[in-house]
Amino acid sequence: MGGLETERVVVGWAARDPSGILSPYTYTLRNTGPEDVLLKVLSCGICHTDIHQVKNELGMSRYPMVPGHEVVGEVVEVGSEVTNFRVGDVVGVGVIVGCCRNCNPCKSDVEQYCNKKIWSYNDVYTDGKTTQGGFAQSMIVDQKFVVKIPDGMSAEQAAPLLCAGLTVYSPLSHFGLNKSGQRGGILGLGGVGHMGVKIAKAMGHHVTVISSSDKKRAEAMEHLGADEYLVSSDATRMQEFADTLDYIIDTVPAVHALEPYLSLLKLDGRLILMGVINAPLQFLTPLVMLGRKSITGSFIGSMKETEEMLEFCKEKGITSMIEVVKMDYVNEALERLEKNDVRYRFVVDVAGSKLEP
Ligand code: NAP
Repeated sequence: MGGLETERVVVGWAARDPSGILSPYTYTLRNTGPEDVLLKVLSCGICHTDIHQVKNELGMSRYPMVPGHEVVGEVVEVGSEVTNFRVGDVVGVGVIVGCCRNCNPCKSDVEQYCNKKIWSYNDVYTDGKTTQGGFAQSMIVDQKFVVKIPDGMSAEQAAPLLCAGLTVYSPLSHFGLNKSGQRGGILGLGGVGHMGVKIAKAMGHHVTVISSSDKKRAEAMEHLGADEYLVSSDATRMQEFADTLDYIIDTVPAVHALEPYLSLLKLDGRLILMGVINAPLQFLTPLVMLGRKSITGSFIGSMKETEEMLEFCKEKGITSMIEVVKMDYVNEALERLEKNDVRYRFVVDVAGSKLEP
């Protein structure tokens, strides 16, 4: 795409090495191609995946890296062939910004499973440029990977829906668990987990939170509307709940035993793994055989599901529970997120922050 002379210079906050500390970084965006949308970033959520990435926990990080994949922005320019968006629209961008469009997953509208997908950051775009995420003044994104934020949803409330919300909505929908009367478990009450409780409740499920401590009990029951709360180390209570759940959404981002949770599942129950863990997990085969249980995984959701999920959240009045911070607090926020000290998602007010050094 176009010459350097028209490239836009922007400031974002980037990690330079696996310390994961972000600081101002100036770089250029590509020109707006015919199918591209230029957006001014308004808000961007902080996902635990951002920690995995900036700290190179998955061994594939490239620096400088501007993270951020729960992006809400305002459209400031559109390419000549952009049909769905207009200047002034408030839009969202999530975890991926490109795919091959020819493979089976792409043709089946599950482009998140395309082997050539392009991540919003820490990847290389089709023009050879490094992709950079939403902790920045602006982004340029192909219209296929942009969604309209429903009217009446604030930018900061909408941001966590674009990854955390989608990540729970997609498997519930795909596995046919989106009907009322299901008994669901949400393991790990963080950013993804709290959206899990809200979305599952809105689908009419009986929801049990399974947490590593008792600290979030009152909030889970009173604010999020969970029906039951289990502390995973409480063996007696865990035993009482054996064979009771149709599914568990497991969001724990670290190595953990699967047996205690497999035991909670009913016949044909599903353990749906969400956490990105770069070490093997173990389980004993009888725990899946005796009960025909499944251990499966799921990755974000498609653009189609993103639209559906946003509509669902609008219709049900679901929003995220967030702590809004400015960019100069982002390093503390990352540290607090790592220490399990946030209720339940940090969202950076990007447009209201000073990004320049
Ligand atoms: P988060 O906000 O940090 O929540 C994780 C929760 O897991 C914590 O709040 C905590 O809940 C529990 N936990 C138990 N052991 C933990 C440990 N050793 N360290 C930290 N937390 C622990 O993270 P998140 O943003 O929800 O993301 C969760 C995981 O899902 C991450 O690995 C992330 O990369 C991944 N993810 C995957 C997808 C996908 O598409 N599959 C999408 C988004 C995120 P309690 O206090 O209740 O125990």
